[in-house]
Amino acid sequence: MSFSDFGLDKRLMSTIEHLGFNEPTDIQQQAIPVAMTGQDLIASSKTGSGKTLAFILPALQRLMKNRALSKRDPRVVILTPTRELAKQVFTQLRLFTAGTQFKAVLILGGENFNDQVKTLEKDPHFLVATPGRLADHLSKGHFYLNGLELLILDEADRMLDLGFSKELKLINKAADHRKRQTLMFSATLDHGQINDFALELLTKPKRIAIGAAH
Ligand code: ADP
Ligand code: MG
Repeated sequence: MSFSDFGLDKRLMSTIEHLGFNEPTDIQQQAIPVAMTGQDLIASSKTGSGKTLAFILPALQRLMKNRALSKRDPRVVILTPTRELAKQVFTQLRLFTAGTQFKAVLILGGENFNDQVKTLEKDPHFLVATPGRLADHLSKGHFYLNGLELLILDEADRMLDLGFSKELKLINKAADHRKRQTLMFSATLDHGQINDFALELLTKPKRIAIGAAH
């Protein structure tokens, strides 16, 4: 299988070529077509297997093809458990948004709060964030999620381990389930809380588990 089989926008294909990626990894082969149908997805595969592109590509494809629900609200929110992971996802995302009209911003705990308020006022299309700080801005009305089209939970198992379930539920509630798609990625689906959590946040999700023992 090759990246050209997904039917991705040529701007995305050209960045993939620049990066020198010849073929999609297993998780990308399975997750990208499902995510592109608009279905919810819960997917697991080991660290280093290419999960980031498995959600970045369908997210950008969706934005490039569909009209925005709202001019002001973010269209895609990507949550990760740590600052470091958020920065890594942001770096990969920026490779694909460069040269497009899509704006992506990084909202991390421990950084200047008021600077982030100003950044949010510029109505970015993508927020890449750690849950605590994002929930804080949301509850203070610094942005809204009425126009959210895609909620992505990266390393959901670690977010639960770090005690972010309250923040994730708050963010979930602020964005209409009927309008948005939710993609949940995890290193494992065996985690005790993951399935309960998926039941609450996802709608009839497709499950993909790469390299699982069962
Ligand atoms: P994970 O989130 O599953 O831990 P990442 O998305 O961080 O994995 O990807 C791990 C590394 O593999 C990154 O350096 C990324 O650029 C690279 N990578 C991703 N997809 C491909 C691909 N299809 N071909 C080659 N390298 C890839
Ligand atoms: Mg990852």
